[in-house]
Amino acid sequence: MPNFGTRRGFLAQNTLAALGALGAAFGRAQAAPVRPAQVDGEDYYDKLGVPKIINAAGTYTALTASIMPPPVQAAVAKAARHPVRLADLQRKAGEYIARRLKCEAALVSSGAAAALTLGTAACMTVGNRPAVARLPLDTAGLKNEVIVQKSHRYGYDHAIRNCGIRFVEVETLAQYQAAFTDRTVMCHFFNAADGQIGREQWIAVAHRHGVPCFNDAAADVPPISNLWAYTQMGFDLVTFSGGKGLRGPQNAGLLLGRKDLIEAATWSNSPYDETVGRGMKVAKEQIVGMVAAIDWFLAQTDDGMQAEFRRRAERIAAHLKDVPTLRHEIFIPPVANAVPHLLLRYDPVKVRKTPLDVADSLRNGAPAIELNPATGRKSGSAGLPDAENAIVVGVWMLQPGEDLIVARRLREALLQA
Ligand SMILES: *Cc1c(COP(=O)(O)O)cnc(C)c1O
Repeated sequence: MPNFGTRRGFLAQNTLAALGALGAAFGRAQAAPVRPAQVDGEDYYDKLGVPKIINAAGTYTALTASIMPPPVQAAVAKAARHPVRLADLQRKAGEYIARRLKCEAALVSSGAAAALTLGTAACMTVGNRPAVARLPLDTAGLKNEVIVQKSHRYGYDHAIRNCGIRFVEVETLAQYQAAFTDRTVMCHFFNAADGQIGREQWIAVAHRHGVPCFNDAAADVPPISNLWAYTQMGFDLVTFSGGKGLRGPQNAGLLLGRKDLIEAATWSNSPYDETVGRGMKVAKEQIVGMVAAIDWFLAQTDDGMQAEFRRRAERIAAHLKDVPTLRHEIFIPPVANAVPHLLLRYDPVKVRKTPLDVADSLRNGAPAIELNPATGRKSGSAGLPDAENAIVVGVWMLQPGEDLIVARRLREALLQA
């Protein structure tokens, strides 16, 4: 987990055209004219003294991941105005999402991590609903072994362990084939990880043993088609984070896959008590926001998104042309966060500032800017290259106009050594 630090002190106003659109939507629905403060709502970041930041990092959870596009914000605001029957909303949203994402069934969870827990619980309890209340500790007699490649162990697998399973690690295909027992309940795959066993082989072996396969692709859109590629490849369960590339609510996620497993996952989810998922509540605003984010995302094109991110990167690089020794490169990570990132390499001796110094001065300036946490680090996170002598700008979460602010501030920091 990268440490982004916090900045105290004066913060500059960070205009969000989006809030204007949201206000307009409210305004239309009111009978009487309303004052701007009522329309927009109070700015609770200002009221609480929480600095707003410019996100030049990416969809990092600690940086609140993404900003919902205006139509998604408006859909959330509208959903907040009416109670509904939660079960109706969950069922209809699931059916709609499954249709749009070309899979059998879907469930909106409170995030990809929650989907990992609910999907695992589903594999353990499918066809045996009374077992739901026994997770995570009273698993005697239940299948509780999850096979995983050693290189696919990661911080998020605690969400799977929350069901009371134990992992069986394998490295080679032969080890994988020999790992199945009558207690094997699921085979887990981390989509962005490397390993000796590829996706299709992973699925084929598991299915020969009648065991379902889960693929965690939380951070792996764009490309848009990934939203159906993995379920269509044969994974029984797939998760995507709702608040990363999809730009839905940060506390939403998708669990996609087989109808019987998705139904079993709902048994372990809020609002049911005595379940591992009761604390993973998904509110109406999140469910609607998730659906609206899917509609928004499917209305984009991969080419359009890539071109826009590339334009932002080039615009920033153009501002830095006269920084001594500076070269730029546009880098697209292979699986997770597969969008153009700007890498700026230079000689820190000539410039007299290391990439970490630059990151600090942007973090501590006004407005505060967070660069990608791979900046100045040898092992880049999330598929990024070694950036010990590089600044990494994640441009895809920038709001309109912020690329120029980042460019100006980088230029100042690099030239004022
Ligand atoms: C971000 C992430 C998660 C968790 O997603 P949330 O929606 O924040 O719960 C799980 N797995 C991977 C690989 C991720 O990148």
